[in-house]
Amino acid sequence: MIRRLSPELTRRIAAGEVITRPLDAVRELIENALDATATRIEIELGGGGLDFLEVRDNGVGIPEAEVALAPLRHTTSKLAGESLADIATLGFRGEALWSIAWAGELSLLTRPPGQLGATLLRARGDRITTERARGPQGTRARVTGLFAELPARLRTQASPAAEYREVLALVGRYVLHRPELHWRVVLDGETRLSHAPGDVRAAVASVYGALPANRLLTVDAAGVHGAVSRPELTRPRRDRMHLAVNGRPVEFPAELERAVLRAYGELLPQGQAPLAVLSLEVPPAWIDPNVHPHKARVALARLDELAARLEAAVRAALAAHPLAGALPALR
Ligand code: ADP
Ligand code: MG
Repeated sequence: MIRRLSPELTRRIAAGEVITRPLDAVRELIENALDATATRIEIELGGGGLDFLEVRDNGVGIPEAEVALAPLRHTTSKLAGESLADIATLGFRGEALWSIAWAGELSLLTRPPGQLGATLLRARGDRITTERARGPQGTRARVTGLFAELPARLRTQASPAAEYREVLALVGRYVLHRPELHWRVVLDGETRLSHAPGDVRAAVASVYGALPANRLLTVDAAGVHGAVSRPELTRPRRDRMHLAVNGRPVEFPAELERAVLRAYGELLPQGQAPLAVLSLEVPPAWIDPNVHPHKARVALARLDELAARLEAAVRAALAAHPLAGALPALR
């Protein structure tokens, strides 16, 4: 017999599709902190994120009168008009906090700079309470009991160690692309990543260590910014190639990765890849972040043109290298 799911169950299932693992909640909360123009972002997890996960920022906070709206579905302060064409923020769907509140229990302690006291909100499904509290400027978002009522999701979770690896990789990508901020990651009480404001070189040092940081060439041409490693620092995998488009870290499209490798030409041994942290600015209309639930994959228009820009920019950085004479002519 076909019957309709209860509204409660429908919501829980929808939430479990946006938040499939602690990492998803961490990503959404970091994006909110960045959208709140925070200069300091701290991420803390316990028990692989299933016991608790927390993101603290010193951003704009949420005014007392608006806090209770934040965990509702499709409520956002980021889309002023009806157009999806020129989104400048990382969030815009107003779905993250709603999903988190339905996948577990959410609390927000938040205070905008001008407001005297803070507000503490607790949301579990549609049970939402708020009270006045003490708190620093900014927002502390805390999630507990993730998937406690989604047993199937709970069963398929990775080990805490595997989740922590992914969290460190995720935050590492943000650090590389936003090195001007303070970042800290604490896992089971231990500081695992810490970064003080600096340039991309400082970020590479925080994420990968001093050795690769000392072997970087600056990229700054054709609307592409960042750094790539000298050809002598190579890896058998492409796992240290990072791209941000208009400030949003995205999966490096294979076609654009190839353009970077092409720029090295013969300088790069067969099958090897460089370290690359590249940031591309394109007109907002060329990018559609709306194709993927986590917005990690974006649809990019004019890939050919972007590939040519990346290749030229990396080529220009390598031109300073003593072996640059070995570079093949640009096609
Ligand atoms: P979205 O980010 O798509 O707008 P969310 O559900 O992630 O949707 O957040 C809902 C709203 O709550 C945001 O639009 C913002 O106004 C507010 N908010 C959430 N997190 C923060 C934060 N860390 N600092 C300030 N405001 C926040
Ligand atoms: Mg958001």
